[in-house]
Amino acid sequence: MQALIPCIDDMIDIEHVSVTYGETAALRDVSLRIDDGEFAFVVGENGAGKSTLIKLLIREVMADDIRDPEPHITVNGYDLIELRQRDVPTLRRTIGFVFQDFKLINTMNVFDNVAFVLRSIDAPTKYIRKRVPQVIGLMGLGSKINQYPDELSGGEQQRVAIARALVNNPQLIIADEPTGNLDPRAKIETMKLLKEINDKGTTVMVVTHEHDLVKRFGGRLINIKEGVIAYDGMI
Ligand code: ADP
Repeated sequence: MQALIPCIDDMIDIEHVSVTYGETAALRDVSLRIDDGEFAFVVGENGAGKSTLIKLLIREVMADDIRDPEPHITVNGYDLIELRQRDVPTLRRTIGFVFQDFKLINTMNVFDNVAFVLRSIDAPTKYIRKRVPQVIGLMGLGSKINQYPDELSGGEQQRVAIARALVNNPQLIIADEPTGNLDPRAKIETMKLLKEINDKGTTVMVVTHEHDLVKRFGGRLINIKEGVIAYDGMI
């Protein structure tokens, strides 16, 4: 069947996926494609299934094992139904994450917070010395490179987190409520940065509650309601 053949242009291709926790159906027969280079907002009330969707994409949860129709998930070219557990870290290296609470390491300065990602995959020191300041500079934080997270504003901390998400050149960035802890100006700065990253070709998916930001920035809007995609279109 044509729909089940993964296409190279699809960053995310989900067909007929359900996820059930005990008695709770968190996602119900969801099908969704996000193409290479797209920018998509994902919205939905608490409990709608947004976190489960993210967990599905990074193989933290598995699709229910249903035969007819069989579920299908590819992310960045990886078939997540077939992927072996030992290859999950390789999949995750193709994705950059940005979180609501930044998740920076408070005992490390800005350079080391970003370098940490590259050190954990044994990147050469020479490359780390070149790449880390480059990406920190892109986020407008060159003058803060030796400072620690608690010496930075919330907006600056989120920019460090975006630098960390970008440093390994991911194909896809998933931002989970990235503006939830920020003041109004920093919310807009953060969204602008994510848009700029998208303009340079990286696929970006932003899960958010902030309808004002969605309206202001526009783009593709995917609304999840009680585990199904209730709306998917451009706004
Ligand atoms: P959202 O991120 O939109 O708030 P979730 O994906 O976290 O929604 O949750 C979807 C549904 O699945 C909710 O009803 C939630 O209570 C339930 N759920 C989420 N995680 C678990 C879990 N680990 N065990 C049982 N139920 C869960």
